[in-house]
Amino acid sequence: QVRTRFAPSPTGYMHIGNLRSALYTYLFAKKNGGKFILRIEDTDQEREVEGAVELIYSTLKKVGLNYDEGPDVGGDYGPYIQSQRRGIYKGYAEELVKKGAAYYCFCTAEELEAAHKAAQAKGETYKYDKHCLHLSPEEVDKKLKSGAPYVIRFNAPTQGETSFTDAVYGEITVENATLDDIVLLKSDGLPTYNFANVVDDHLMGITHVLRGNEYLSSTPKYNLIYDAFGWEKPAYVHLPPVMKDEKRKLSKRHGDPSFEDLLAEGFLKDAIVNYIALLGWNPGTNQEMFSLAELEQAFDWTGLSKSPAIFDMAKLTWFNAEYMRRLPPEEYAALARPWLQKALDPEKFDFDYLYPLLQGRTEVLRDIPGMVDFLNELPDYDNALYVHKKMKTTVESAHTVLKELMPLLMAVEPWNEDTVQQACKELVERTGRKNGQVLWPLRIALSGKMATPCGAYELCVLLGKEESLRRIAAGIG
Ligand code: GLU
Repeated sequence: QVRTRFAPSPTGYMHIGNLRSALYTYLFAKKNGGKFILRIEDTDQEREVEGAVELIYSTLKKVGLNYDEGPDVGGDYGPYIQSQRRGIYKGYAEELVKKGAAYYCFCTAEELEAAHKAAQAKGETYKYDKHCLHLSPEEVDKKLKSGAPYVIRFNAPTQGETSFTDAVYGEITVENATLDDIVLLKSDGLPTYNFANVVDDHLMGITHVLRGNEYLSSTPKYNLIYDAFGWEKPAYVHLPPVMKDEKRKLSKRHGDPSFEDLLAEGFLKDAIVNYIALLGWNPGTNQEMFSLAELEQAFDWTGLSKSPAIFDMAKLTWFNAEYMRRLPPEEYAALARPWLQKALDPEKFDFDYLYPLLQGRTEVLRDIPGMVDFLNELPDYDNALYVHKKMKTTVESAHTVLKELMPLLMAVEPWNEDTVQQACKELVERTGRKNGQVLWPLRIALSGKMATPCGAYELCVLLGKEESLRRIAAGIG
């Protein structure tokens, strides 16, 4: 049975690239009738951020990437948090020592530092010189008995090559001479990140490892460890990075938004998931809109690309607008309400009237206040807005129209879309003007803006009779 895992380190937020890895890992398992597992890789406790683990759980659940096994859902291969597995790794490192594939190393931090510096001075990449590999069993025994601090290192081959075939990147080969004898177990008895990763993937029965391509070059090292144990290696599917542009990876540190940031701005989770699914994966058809359930059907790893994907905010925004439009009206209303409230007093404006006007025009929820704040207060505007070349309106003609419209609108009772429209129509018919020659000046006078979420009649209704007349009077100048 296929078993995949998402193995994040708890850093405090969800990178877009990480979320995409989680999504592909989930989809791969679903598509193959397998299990999707969550494992928290928190061996580096110094980097641990308060609340980060909970954020991982809640994000995956929010998005619908429900894991079959994981820290807060259980499973037969737990615990699923590495810091709760501390006791497991030492025995495995010692097993490799017994097999001759690893060795105790007693070199001190100072000695290693000096070797590092020496290599640097010569312009070489530092590699441990296997000094302790050559200690005699008696010497090792003596040092261990004396309580000298030690680490356990992997004894990497120095000749030949190590290769593996990645599902996306094809055959990857490294010269063994370039491999360092990596530390498996640290002097505090805890595993290094690399060792815990390998041991856990094995113990958890992971069959397919999907992860970012920054691990591509470490994978041969991992494979050597599998071989040393005599364990079956998983299949590897490395994923191309999500880039900000041609040169730089998308990164929170450089101010690029995380998943949480996008949600807070008013992107919809389904739109984000849909967009990032296509960021590095090609469905092989023209279909662009995918629900998670549809992705589960359509996903096929052969559609994964090895070229870096560039995160395109405009494209995500397009997806978001599509998802906004498709929301059930009451769902849109519930999402839009808090944003409308930032700009407008619900006592003064009829939100229920506004929602349907805004829904088709909302790209991102955070834009809503800026779309409606003119209702609250007429912004200062330039008379040049009255000039519309195509409609042949000028500042003068606009002022004349508004003057003529004023008495007609004052007489309107009751005040609604139909009656306001009647009044405008009357002026159009009486003066032989075009509709736009009346409605354009009216809309500018009411909003002070070129673009409004609705037409002139609706603006009249939203503002009410008194405020509408006040704005028109102000527009006449
Ligand atoms: N813990 C690693 C990370 O957060 C993932 C490593 C892996 O998937 O093998 O980047």
